[in-house]
Amino acid sequence: MSSKDTVAVLGTGIMGAPIARNLLAAGFPVQAWNRTAEKAAPLAEAGAVVARSPREATAGARIVLTMLVDADAVLETVADALDAGQLWLQMSTIGLDGAERCAALAAERGATLVDAPVLGSRQAAEDGTLIVLASGPDDVRERVDPLFDVVGERTWWLGEAGTGQRVKLVANTWVLTLVESLAETLVLAEGLGVPPQTFLDVIAGGALDSGYAQLKGRAMIERNFPPAFPLRHAAKDLGLIEEAAGRHELDVPLIDTVADRYARAVEAGLGDLDMSATFLTGVERR
Ligand code: NAP
Repeated sequence: MSSKDTVAVLGTGIMGAPIARNLLAAGFPVQAWNRTAEKAAPLAEAGAVVARSPREATAGARIVLTMLVDADAVLETVADALDAGQLWLQMSTIGLDGAERCAALAAERGATLVDAPVLGSRQAAEDGTLIVLASGPDDVRERVDPLFDVVGERTWWLGEAGTGQRVKLVANTWVLTLVESLAETLVLAEGLGVPPQTFLDVIAGGALDSGYAQLKGRAMIERNFPPAFPLRHAAKDLGLIEEAAGRHELDVPLIDTVADRYARAVEAGLGDLDMSATFLTGVERR
């Protein structure tokens, strides 16, 4: 019998499945559930108990971890599955309104909410090198830090629950505008007859470079967009950023433009590709 807390992992998609695998490898008993059962089934071979419902997954678990697409999915999933005394690590990107709705549900159930969205994509989830943006009461840190240490390479404790979502939205503002800017840069390069690789080469290693520019730039040049961060999730996050900015009466014209581009990309059927496929929207206009 493991001395580690049993963790119910609700949502075993791109991020949730590798998180569950890493927890299992570190000796945490995992009870996993996914809406589409086939995605959770392979975790049984890694030692997880694969549950048929969220309720079954959370039964007897000390910790409930949600990694689902958005706030509605999270709330629908935990609605009948959260028990008094459970520690709820909400790791999906759900924005300010979503975090408040989760806090209200946790309070109603007598559960403790730790709002903990992450930075890093599929590879970092697989490698256990995510950055965890944790927020919640101080007295649960000792209990959840060993779990976060498995999932990520660094945990930032940022304040009261909900602060993690704020930091995540700020970071995604940077990431999403960077990717759109890169897409436009490469569209311009191709249009001017400059090999886009030349741009990546001339910035490589200097102050203008970024790991993301090289990674996503290569994907754009090769027109190869296996989803690490699906474009439709990026579109969802742009909506969350606009909602947060609207609440605080902040002017975010660049985000509005990028949101428009991503919405168009989703309409064009690119939503399941990686977010870097926003590049194709620019290419197709030429
Ligand atoms: P994903 O692979 O698309 O997984 C989404 C999960 O949500 C799946 O388990 C899906 O179930 C479930 N889901 C969707 N609608 C549902 C509903 N109505 N009820 C119950 N379950 C529902 O996405 P992901 O990349 O793992 O993203 C998960 C979260 O992490 C999102 O909030 C995303 O913004 C955030 N995030 C992602 C990345 C990344 O790079 N991928 C990085 C940081 C944060 P089915 O399998 O049945 O569809």
